[in-house]
Amino acid sequence: MQVDFIIVGLGLAGIAFAEELSKNGKSFIVFEDDSQNSSLVAGGMYNPVVLKRFTPVWNAKEQLKIALPFYKNLEEKLKGQYQYSVDIYRIFKSIEEQNNWFQACDKLLLEDFMIPKIIKNINQYIKAPFDCGKLKNTGRINVNSLAKDYRIHLKKSNKLREEQFVYKKIVFDMDRVSYRDIIAKHIVFCEGFGLKENPFFNHLPMREAKGELLTIHAPNLKVDYLIKSAVFILPIGNDHYKVGATFNWIDKTKLPTQDGRNELENKLSSVINCDYKIVDHSAGIRPTILDRRPLLGIHKKYKQLSILNGMGTRGVMIAPLMAKKLFLNLEKNEQLDKEIDIARFD
Ligand SMILES: Cc1cc2nc3c(=O)[nH]c(=O)nc-3n(C[C@H](O)[C@H](O)[C@H](O)COP(=O)(O)OP(=O)(O)OC[C@H]3O[C@@H](n4cnc5c(N)ncnc54)[C@H](O)[C@@H]3O)c2cc1C
Repeated sequence: MQVDFIIVGLGLAGIAFAEELSKNGKSFIVFEDDSQNSSLVAGGMYNPVVLKRFTPVWNAKEQLKIALPFYKNLEEKLKGQYQYSVDIYRIFKSIEEQNNWFQACDKLLLEDFMIPKIIKNINQYIKAPFDCGKLKNTGRINVNSLAKDYRIHLKKSNKLREEQFVYKKIVFDMDRVSYRDIIAKHIVFCEGFGLKENPFFNHLPMREAKGELLTIHAPNLKVDYLIKSAVFILPIGNDHYKVGATFNWIDKTKLPTQDGRNELENKLSSVINCDYKIVDHSAGIRPTILDRRPLLGIHKKYKQLSILNGMGTRGVMIAPLMAKKLFLNLEKNEQLDKEIDIARFD
């Protein structure tokens, strides 16, 4: 079988790259072995404001311009709903934070998102003595449901192999590669934390961060916006909420832990005071990079191999734009920006 591309990994990065190929009439096959699940457990929020400091997220406007139509097209193509508008209420810790909020609202990049008002908290179950700031034009992608539907879509056209991609089985041949029964022009690795096993790219400085999330049922809480304080509380419908997320730079397993659960429950009790029941607990590893920028580019020696990784804590916004940039680099020779090119680590 001959294809233009082999894609390894079908998280957000792999999906975004597969879509770029489909749009441009390129043939491909995807390998996915369920070894990682960052995309499957992600809260899925997109939000162009750093909620700790009220500063703009790197390149956010450019990312959103590509990401929102990308998810809309997928909704049409797969006949599902994945995108939900969700406002964010940031609980203030102090008067000083309230002042910082107003200062940030005047910044050019933030004015479309930050509302220059203090929103009074009237929900008796939310602890917010300094009230809240509200963000608009933010939302959530149900990545889990999108990823599952996307797999079904690829399976129908025989473009998915649900198996591990074994690096040592690649055979290099001039400007092509063969892998078992497949001959391809390129292999694009979109493996998330799986990068660590990839002998061609594992020299790159991934500083992965494990994250845990709870799903709770809280019938009295009744909020339809995301609450951000010591944790985020994200409504996902039917009085259920995702609560997260932890950051752990030591534990490399994707298993939920008792420590993670305790941390989230403790923080949650500082934000709400109603009864709830934990109905799920999940974990995944965020593919974050030393300098907090994505990893894109072509292998120095084996030009048939390239990488699309480093989506970090914000894959929902970043992945579609990065997939486009990598595609243009591979097919149209458009240069990658220095700050995302893997060559910066040479
Ligand atoms: C708890 C948590 C909450 C998060 N919340 C948000 C959020 O609210 N908003 C946001 O934008 N981002 C969020 N993120 C980050 C987001 O999940 C990531 O940025 C994104 O999912 C990374 O996508 P990826 O495709 O690069 O990696 P992954 O999702 O890890 O996908 C890589 C895929 O490659 C496969 N793979 C690896 N090696 C092989 C191999 N050898 N053969 C075959 N398949 C292989 C894996 O099984 C996996 O499916 C969160 C992450 C976590 C953990």
